[in-house]
Amino acid sequence: MARSVLVTGGNRGIGLAVAQAFAEVGDNVAITYRGGEPPAGFLAVKCDVTEPETVEAAFAEVEEKQGPVEVLVANAGITRDTLLLRMSEEDWSQVIETNLTGAYRVAKRAAKGMLRLRRGRIIFVSSVVGLLGSAGQVNYAASKAGMVGMARSIARELGSRGITANVVAPGFVETALTAQLSEELQKQYLAQIPLGRYTTPEEVARVIRWVASDEAAYITGAVIPVDGGLGMGH
Ligand code: NDP
Repeated sequence: MARSVLVTGGNRGIGLAVAQAFAEVGDNVAITYRGGEPPAGFLAVKCDVTEPETVEAAFAEVEEKQGPVEVLVANAGITRDTLLLRMSEEDWSQVIETNLTGAYRVAKRAAKGMLRLRRGRIIFVSSVVGLLGSAGQVNYAASKAGMVGMARSIARELGSRGITANVVAPGFVETALTAQLSEELQKQYLAQIPLGRYTTPEEVARVIRWVASDEAAYITGAVIPVDGGLGMGH
């Protein structure tokens, strides 16, 4: 049966590939966008995860138009890379507010409906650097590591209600976000990836779709890497 899926930041990059992957198997897919023209083929709801009112409005619209969210993919994320000593309070708080607090906000809102349904899948899109660390990404790595503790706590709180919470941790993906990384850093990482290549948004999306599938019903509180071996399963 078609499920109600919501992907935050589903208007482009990995989020869009995730939305397409769920649509391919016949699910009803909603995506959030902040501005501009959202991609066609999905229920597009305006939402900035740093603004609680827009999160509430987005969920209300999704609930009305395609039913309570059964699969939440908390994917919206940003980077503000710089070395620790140059990192401003704003660089820190913007990244934490978007990546970690934003994920908490949407997970909490989604959990309400999932509790009533007595089923649900929450998937946080983290990053290999959350557990590996990355020079120049103190804020980003902290936000992505925070998702692990959050997912595991949610897994414990809501497991008895048929709700799973997992983290998918991509390595380097060819998107706008990776294009911002310095060439030097990109070269360094490629040399450390056992599979010797970056991944694609589609490859990440298929793993996320699988984590939300019946086949993965017994997986919760897990960190699933899609990183070509960069993090060695950490
Ligand atoms: P993109 O920069 O291509 O897309 C980011 C998405 O997040 C956009 O849809 C953007 O919306 C949305 N977003 C950003 N801030 C907010 C906000 N405040 N409220 C709502 N939506 C917001 O990034 P990617 O597709 O590469 O990354 C997606 C996720 O995957 C991120 O969480 C990222 O950290 C993670 N990741 C990416 C990797 C990579 O190599 N690219 C590696 C590992 C993890 P808008 O279009 O409005 O800006």
